Amino acid sequence: MVAAPLVRPHTEQPRPLSPVLPESAPTTSASSPLALPLTPSVLSAHGTALANRARSVWVERAMCGPGSVKLSDWARYLQGFREQESLDLEVHFDFAVAPSVALHIARVVFGASLDVHRATGLRVPPPAVYVHRDLVTLRSYSCLPSNAVAFYDGAIHVPDPSKDEGLEIEIRRSVVHEYTHHALFSAGIREPIWFQEGLAMHVALEPWRNFDITPPGLDMRDMVTGFPHTAPPKLSERFYGQAYQMLELLQSLCGPQPDCDNRQLVKALVEGAPAATFFEDMIAARAPRSQVSPLELWRMYFGGLRPAQ
Ligand SMILES: [Zn+2]
Repeated sequence: MVAAPLVRPHTEQPRPLSPVLPESAPTTSASSPLALPLTPSVLSAHGTALANRARSVWVERAMCGPGSVKLSDWARYLQGFREQESLDLEVHFDFAVAPSVALHIARVVFGASLDVHRATGLRVPPPAVYVHRDLVTLRSYSCLPSNAVAFYDGAIHVPDPSKDEGLEIEIRRSVVHEYTHHALFSAGIREPIWFQEGLAMHVALEPWRNFDITPPGLDMRDMVTGFPHTAPPKLSERFYGQAYQMLELLQSLCGPQPDCDNRQLVKALVEGAPAATFFEDMIAARAPRSQVSPLELWRMYFGGLRPAQ
């Protein structure tokens, strides 16, 4: 990891960002994995000796666990950011970031809020947004996983993508993904985690082709309560692939039924549907005449999947 210099404010006054019309909606999404409790079955099943990450990243700044040495520098680092309201967003940006770039990110986040509202039915106040000078600096001050380019910890954090077209695409995906987490959390939904990740991937139109879908899949209890964001990539891929397909199955069971979509699932959770049995309960609700149990239906579905070419 490359150490970055401390970013300090200078005396130049920021140029105000004027309100603008939103751009077209982002097209895809990436992900910043969640840091959630490691359940014993995950640990035993995969033989990993991962750290005790028993608390959500959503209450831990910078995706760092409690006690991380990075956290003390993180707060000081963020003090070097300018702040501007734009599109009803609180946008903070590094002094090395051009105001026009901060405005561009505000447009991307605004577009994500529309995507998320359309897909989930949730319209929530937007989070604060931080635009960092580059990915190296963001990584050096935070605990951002190596396979992610952005994260949500109550605010959305992204690097300046203006010099990297590929990064720009990744950030557009990630902002939709992270905004979905923000919307669910703002609505009081934390678990099931498979739904957090599966929905974020679906809303962000993330491709699942590269994800591991090897049956029989991870234990359903682990899919409900969490997975380690510091896990080996293979384990992480299995979680994401399975989460995506769990939601894919529920979507496929809708058939021509009216008002049968992801918004219905979100509404059920908001109204108190139990997270532990949410998957089985929703399969039963959407396939009431099934000859097999909900989990057997899932096993048949998952076992029949083949990696996409
Ligand atoms: Zn996620």
